[in-house]
Amino acid sequence: MRETRTKKTKTVCTFCGVGCSFEVWTKGREILKVQPTSDAPANGISTCIKGKFGWDFVNSEERLTKPLIRRGDHFEEATWDEALDLIANKLGGIKDQFGGNAIGFISSSKVTNEENYLMQKLARQIFATNNVDNCSRYCQSPATDGLLRTVGYGGDAGTIQDIAGAGLVIVVGANPTEGHPVLATRVKRAHKLKGQKLIVSDLRKHEMAERADLYIHPKQGSDHAWIAAVAKYMIEQGWHDQTFIEERVSGFDVFVKSIEKYTLDYAEKQTGIAKEHLIQIAAMIHEADGVCVLWGMGVTQNTGGSNTSAAISNLLLVTGNYGRPGAGAYPLRGHNNVQGACDFGTLPAWLPGYQHIADDAARKKFELAWETSIPANPGLDNIQMLQAIEAGELKAMYLMGEEMAWVDSNANHVHDALSRLDFFVVQDIFLTKTAQFADVVLPAAPSLEKEGTFTNTERRIQRLYQVMEPMGEAKPDWWILREVANRLGAGWNYQCPGDIMDEAAVLSPIFAGVDYARLEGWDSLLWPVAKDGTDTPLLYTERFNFPDGKARLAPVEWILPVQMPEAYDLLLNNGRLLEHFHEGNMTNKSKGIQHKFPEVFVEVSPELADARGIAEGTLVRLESPYGAIRVRAVITDRVQGNELYLPMHSVSDQSAVNLLTGTATDQNTHTPAYKQTKVRMQVI
Ligand code: SF4
Repeated sequence: MRETRTKKTKTVCTFCGVGCSFEVWTKGREILKVQPTSDAPANGISTCIKGKFGWDFVNSEERLTKPLIRRGDHFEEATWDEALDLIANKLGGIKDQFGGNAIGFISSSKVTNEENYLMQKLARQIFATNNVDNCSRYCQSPATDGLLRTVGYGGDAGTIQDIAGAGLVIVVGANPTEGHPVLATRVKRAHKLKGQKLIVSDLRKHEMAERADLYIHPKQGSDHAWIAAVAKYMIEQGWHDQTFIEERVSGFDVFVKSIEKYTLDYAEKQTGIAKEHLIQIAAMIHEADGVCVLWGMGVTQNTGGSNTSAAISNLLLVTGNYGRPGAGAYPLRGHNNVQGACDFGTLPAWLPGYQHIADDAARKKFELAWETSIPANPGLDNIQMLQAIEAGELKAMYLMGEEMAWVDSNANHVHDALSRLDFFVVQDIFLTKTAQFADVVLPAAPSLEKEGTFTNTERRIQRLYQVMEPMGEAKPDWWILREVANRLGAGWNYQCPGDIMDEAAVLSPIFAGVDYARLEGWDSLLWPVAKDGTDTPLLYTERFNFPDGKARLAPVEWILPVQMPEAYDLLLNNGRLLEHFHEGNMTNKSKGIQHKFPEVFVEVSPELADARGIAEGTLVRLESPYGAIRVRAVITDRVQGNELYLPMHSVSDQSAVNLLTGTATDQNTHTPAYKQTKVRMQVI
């Protein structure tokens, strides 16, 4: 029966890591309006354009509404029983023939915490493999790695509100105004009204860079060098926090030795940042009452992304900038649930709650609870899975909610690898490019059609409530995973996402006190959460997350950017636009947004445009060693010299950025070095 009643339902935005919550007013499937309220813990009465107007995709005619099974070169509609039986038979058969390690599982930050938990449980309990990963591999794994090495948790040090209390905010390789708009508003307000100082380091002079007290433009991939030089200079000046270091930090002498070469002269030569500016940064940190460093993919998507993340944390440690409001490390999570996907164990080396797979006691706890045997070695990450497909070792893949075919680097290579799989399952809301390589495609329900929790960039766990029924025969991802597992003998008895959270809480000390009753309505919890429900808005007030309670300065080396043949003479930077989410296959369905940005473009500096005879709107061909695209030029002084900027929101064979990006990765985490892309450009 058609719903005629108007109702409002609380949900959590699905478009970025700020985790805005608000009420959605609906009549049936019609979305009448999105209304934030002062009760929302992360955003109050604020949202951005995506949160307000980005929801048309939910009612798109392109939604998947029935399971699809490949028959030759086309898909045919199937019943749920047919599709689920086929998946169970095929995956079970591959496990029997080749072992569980012949299968890979890829999860996503687009789905809930509970669904991430079940994806890794499916891999580990039923297939006894740690070949499970999520899309943070493409963005924020290096930040998590750098923080795990230095302070012991991979999350933001405090709350978004705490950032507003900092004396100085340093933004490195991030564009919060477009990537994290509501968080950016907090910083801009504190800068304007409370005298907060602001430093921005970025290749591109974006809106927040224009506002900064100091904007620096380091050479591509050189942030580590200037950060280490500032730390060295501050220690030489006696501007480090000796008491904090003696009481709360280990490894100081080894760290000092490790940064010997990062003199101001060396850093100026390597980064292009004038010595005077490096001294100015050091002085601003010294004078500030609390320093927060915010960083994004301009740092992490480099060959040295994880070492640079550790270098940021080192600088905060030697200056005593942890453990109080308005101080600490804030890696900005891109998707809404990047944090939660990692927290709930869709990582090849980590069980839920950051319990390492090599920790015998932790692993045995899960083995006992799940009546299985889990390997003690880390499994394959997303990047290694593709290599294993090429080597003939990975036969099948199960992917949930990730547009891997356009999001992973070197897309032509990804397409080739996916086409070689013996069996491939995709569950998504659209027949994505990735799904077109699948053998079975399952119609999933987006966030407005299901219940669950998301965790935002500040480690805040929030509930979302079902706004409307799933379209057609679409089902929540947790329901689909349960049905697949049970066909393989799992006996999962979850009746709702709250049951799944209850299990995760029992097995993960950092979620011990998380339950749905404590998350009712606008209530939220920031992990770690003690059994009595006490949560932790601010980390490291008493101890860092290591057995001795001390932080560990990491003696890390700057990893030089990859070299490319000289024929590729232009640096291609890439990132977000305010109006779009990720590859764009959701926000492109919103008429207003599509009208405003019908196609992506490449930003060209005025000097380069002059030299190449390029005018506004000129069609150009960009070519890298990995592929070529065609886009129109926009001439702007946001970019300088031979640097270009291409938004990443295209899924077109003509203009997708990842047809150009290459094979280099971060040394520790294998996150693709998307930001180290060189191209040549021709006017068409
Ligand atoms: Fe908030 Fe981010 Fe959603 Fe905008 S996109 S409404 S800032 S969560």
